[in-house]
Amino acid sequence: MQQWLEEIAASARQRLGEGRVADYIPALAQRDPDRFGIAVCTTSGETYAAGDAREPFSIQSIAKVLLLTLALRTHGEALWQRVGLNPSGMPFNSLAQLEAERGKPRNPFINAGAIAVTDRLVSAFATPDKHLQDIARRLSNNATILIDDAVLASEWQHRSRNAAMAYLMKAFGNIDNDVDEVLRCYFSSCALAMSCVDLATALNFLAADGEVRPLGERFVSPGLARRINAIMTTCGMYDAAGDFAYRVGLPAKSGVGGGIVAVVPGRMTVCAWSPALDESGNSVAAQHALELFAGELDAHLLTT
Ligand code: GLN
Repeated sequence: MQQWLEEIAASARQRLGEGRVADYIPALAQRDPDRFGIAVCTTSGETYAAGDAREPFSIQSIAKVLLLTLALRTHGEALWQRVGLNPSGMPFNSLAQLEAERGKPRNPFINAGAIAVTDRLVSAFATPDKHLQDIARRLSNNATILIDDAVLASEWQHRSRNAAMAYLMKAFGNIDNDVDEVLRCYFSSCALAMSCVDLATALNFLAADGEVRPLGERFVSPGLARRINAIMTTCGMYDAAGDFAYRVGLPAKSGVGGGIVAVVPGRMTVCAWSPALDESGNSVAAQHALELFAGELDAHLLTT
């Protein structure tokens, strides 16, 4: 596996000139586009890493998986009264469907959906951002994980679009709490700084029937883990979820920090990272790496 990851990293590095680092959050624009890392965490607890796999980066939308998991743990199926379950076919930060659909976002993995999910967590926890950081630390077995204050401040300063979504949802009665409080919590989750190794480890419960195997702990039920994987398959790569399903065929979630986590159910999680993105907001080199990985592992979800 180690040798193989090194080969994937070498191939992915050839794509490093392509794409652009996200700059609509200025703190992210400073990232070196020449970084690439990949890490695998198996359900039996082995970890493999190549390239810059231990360097923390801004997890951005990958946080939406953690937000959703926590909200499903606290609110169960009632969550789906607040957010839908279908792909949007629109960019992750689109406002277009919100008005027509009376403030109910299409799914939990676009910004509006994750903000509605965050509102549920603000209702459920006294300090939801701290709770999220604690969960991220516990799941990845890394007590040093932090919220990057510079990224948080930058997201707050440039919050107009996300604030517009939150206020529109509030007007439709789909946000219960103070909009600023909800946005702060949402941005804090996006600003968590984690490495490929941290993320592959933290989301391994999705490959392990809902168990955090190293802790011997059930985090979610097997059925819930399967459902979260289903939503990642249909909505995890924004409006490019169909392309990714065709080329890679694994449940996955990307973020504009350049990370993508994919799940091979029953076997392993893999996280690839490189900051330069395509026009959908997905890392070019990380997608390339995952395509090679899934192809050679013969791990397509629909393999018989
Ligand atoms: N924090 C980012 C935003 O709200 C997350 C977007 C992303 O990773 N796609 O715009």
